[in-house]
Amino acid sequence: MATAIAAIAALAEIIIANKEKLTELDAAIGDADHGLNMARGFEAVRGKLAGAQAEDAASVLKLTGMTLISTVGGAAGPLYGTAFLRAGAVLQGQAELDTDTAAAMLKAAIGGIKERGKAVRGEKTMLDALEPAYEAFTQAMNEGETLLQCLELATEAAANGVEYTKTIIATKGRASYLGERSLGHQDAGATSSYLMLKALTGFARQ
Ligand code: ADP
Ligand code: MG
Ligand code: MG
Repeated sequence: MATAIAAIAALAEIIIANKEKLTELDAAIGDADHGLNMARGFEAVRGKLAGAQAEDAASVLKLTGMTLISTVGGAAGPLYGTAFLRAGAVLQGQAELDTDTAAAMLKAAIGGIKERGKAVRGEKTMLDALEPAYEAFTQAMNEGETLLQCLELATEAAANGVEYTKTIIATKGRASYLGERSLGHQDAGATSSYLMLKALTGFARQ
């Protein structure tokens, strides 16, 4: 669907625009490739979606997930790829994207990341942005907020989660090799997760 393709295009745009920033963050406590990996993946996604106008929204997410898995590489590729596949599965058969469906998609995406990466919150990963975002989203949803407001609050929580990663030691991924030396640095994957939520919020605002 056109909307899903445009939403994914917004994600691609923000990731590609932040390629250097994400790579710099990964350089401090990893292997300096997160931005390169993610930008390569989203360039490939853009290419695939350019020829996929007839696809429904669930198929767009599945194609995105499969493309990320095959092109991003590193730790983040399979994790984000799985997240998009799971979110796409939730969307299957849904006529429109309401707040409940969006929450279920986010939950499924996080579940996929946790299953695949065996990490929990507090290990200085993308989960430190995504889990607080999900909590803020559902809290806002339960208070009757609109999808846009839910996304705005989720993005704010993700930003706080990114800040929080500076204060903790990495125990998963490459940064865990540094132990205490990972303190003071912000996690690259948490940052890319925040950026994607920010892009979705911007897209929803249009
Ligand atoms: P690599 O570390 O293989 O070079 P990337 O640099 O692309 O892969 O991605 C690193 C990011 O992946 C980290 O910043 C972290 O947020 C995330 N990450 C690493 N391992 C895990 C995991 N087990 N669970 C969740 N996220 C993880
Ligand atoms: Mg890396
Ligand atoms: Mg790497």
